[in-house]
Amino acid sequence: MKVIDNPELSRLMLDHLTGLYNLKKQRDEVHLSTLIYCLTRSFLDMKQDVEPTDMEVMLFALGIGLQNEFTPANTTLPVIRKDGVVFSPDFVIKVGEGQYCEMKTTRMSTARDFPESWIEYIKGGCFMQGIKEYDLSVLYMMGNYKPPFPQLNSFRLEFDEAELEANWKYLMCRKEVFDEALKNNRPPRPKEHCSDWECKNCRFKAQCDAMLMIPEGIEIGGQK
Ligand code: SF4
Repeated sequence: MKVIDNPELSRLMLDHLTGLYNLKKQRDEVHLSTLIYCLTRSFLDMKQDVEPTDMEVMLFALGIGLQNEFTPANTTLPVIRKDGVVFSPDFVIKVGEGQYCEMKTTRMSTARDFPESWIEYIKGGCFMQGIKEYDLSVLYMMGNYKPPFPQLNSFRLEFDEAELEANWKYLMCRKEVFDEALKNNRPPRPKEHCSDWECKNCRFKAQCDAMLMIPEGIEIGGQK
């Protein structure tokens, strides 16, 4: 047997996924996730037509594809708007009162704590809907790595009023930065509104590195 690399087939499949999940579509509204993750990236995503990297396509497709398969049949997908922010829960199950659910797919171990970004997002969703409880299902693709077998764990998260309000206040501060950037048509300064891990594999890394070489307050992206 001869095994020959066939990158054309991978390209075909990646292009199919890019089209299937509409990954080239630019956002025109401020979504809750816009405010949770890097604000510079959220800005550039809205303003520029840049191809997603293969890594981004793979991560998105694995997340959304598996989520679609795991989502039970009797669910709804509402869209909620508040204070200029759009939020759509992953799904809502009607069991008496609606149960709001978020599903995550991750390669991190079951032994790790939830990333702060997940909790900020869910707290934001709770505040927008005036609820204090949210369900979270996590597909740990590698389980606890001993051995690396998939495991699905589900949780109910309960919050109090004060922590939901504090989180919303924090998100509204980020929205002010984002709105100001949109108004001035100038991206928020790179690395000031994101976590370090977000820059790895980011499609805008070269652009951000170039922007950081320009002292603050000087012309960026053709704008003063
Ligand atoms: S490279 Fe980092 S700072 Fe720049 S857009 Fe990406 S995540 Fe944000």
